[in-house]
Amino acid sequence: MRASSELVAAARLARRPGEEGANTRAAALPERPGPLAASAQQGAQPARVKTRKSDWTWQLRHALSSADELHGALSLTPEELAGARRAEKAGLPIRVTPYYLSLCDNADPACPIRRQCVPLADESAEVPGDLVDPLGEVAHEVAPHLVQRYPDRALLLATDRCAVYCRFCTRSRMVGDGGGAVALERLAPAMAYLEAHPEVRDVIVSGGDPLAVSTDRVVRLIARLRQIQSVETIRLATRVPVTLPQRITAELVRALKPYHPLWVMTHFNHPKELTPAAERACKRLADHGFPVMNQTVLLRGINDDATTLATLFRGLVRWRVRPYYLLQMDPVRGTAHLRTPLATGVSLMEQLQGRLTGIALPKLIVDTPGGMGKVPIGPEYVVDRRPGRTVLRTHRGVEVEYVDPPAGSGG
Ligand code: SF4
Repeated sequence: MRASSELVAAARLARRPGEEGANTRAAALPERPGPLAASAQQGAQPARVKTRKSDWTWQLRHALSSADELHGALSLTPEELAGARRAEKAGLPIRVTPYYLSLCDNADPACPIRRQCVPLADESAEVPGDLVDPLGEVAHEVAPHLVQRYPDRALLLATDRCAVYCRFCTRSRMVGDGGGAVALERLAPAMAYLEAHPEVRDVIVSGGDPLAVSTDRVVRLIARLRQIQSVETIRLATRVPVTLPQRITAELVRALKPYHPLWVMTHFNHPKELTPAAERACKRLADHGFPVMNQTVLLRGINDDATTLATLFRGLVRWRVRPYYLLQMDPVRGTAHLRTPLATGVSLMEQLQGRLTGIALPKLIVDTPGGMGKVPIGPEYVVDRRPGRTVLRTHRGVEVEYVDPPAGSGG
């Protein structure tokens, strides 16, 4: 059965060289030729290679996970190579699927995809304000693997694994730390907490990436959450539509569909990520009734200009993916080189307001350090406010007075 083979693949992925039960990498992944070798095979056996590349487990088994593999696939600059070597030893680990690698420009270290997945030596730099856990998730843990920062919603951290480790990750403190997918039995205290707190109506299943594990495991987790009567909505926070779109299989959406309402929260950051494979994934989700929302992280030198964002947001809307948030990047330790000043986001929103249809315009959000909650920010449109009268500035620069109804009118 497919589910069994996925479990085998997931079990392989849950082990890393040197861990108990890891075997040797060669033994666990006997057919692994490396992504470049796989590309070279394309001429000889195109149909077979195409089939393999469209298999998400193949993609995960062949993901690059070391500095040497990255260097073999992309001609890394000295700064990238130093960053990759450091990441291997001490920092956020490396993982890049062959699919996401294929979007990287080998000739351009400034490529917006490459910058999201290839570490730089700058990751070792700490600046004032940097935090290991910028959203205070450890402090807000209410049960093992369950974080609650708002009265009506909670965050379930179901795995530490992702298809690609993004260099801007807010949870760099924990992703790829070797734990793998959390067994359902270990989530029992989290489930008990949700059962005892019916005010929590919305559960965000995240990690790591909850879809980077076997279908069987995801379905069992969602089915368990659905047994909790007070949980109304479940959100899957996943980057696989971006980094591993092959994961959105017909089997997966069919298996999850009975547990609606299930929302998918994803992270497209650049128009280069809007590929035919990603389009198929997003449309398959939408066709099966999953509302898909996108949270774009504002990244310096990657997407911090209005034209790039407008192209991205318009493309997403065409696929029925709602641009939901433009996130000011969290001050994660070692990511200052990727962050923009707050004023950049405000200026970008000002340039996009009125230029983009409202359904393509996300909210600009700052998730305040320490886990104190999200704050929407944006350009100031109120010029003057007096009792009963407000002067507003429109996106055309025109000032318009809005007059409130007289006190007591309307009964
Ligand atoms: S997929 Fe999400 S959790 Fe995983 S590394 Fe990227 S941002 Fe972090």
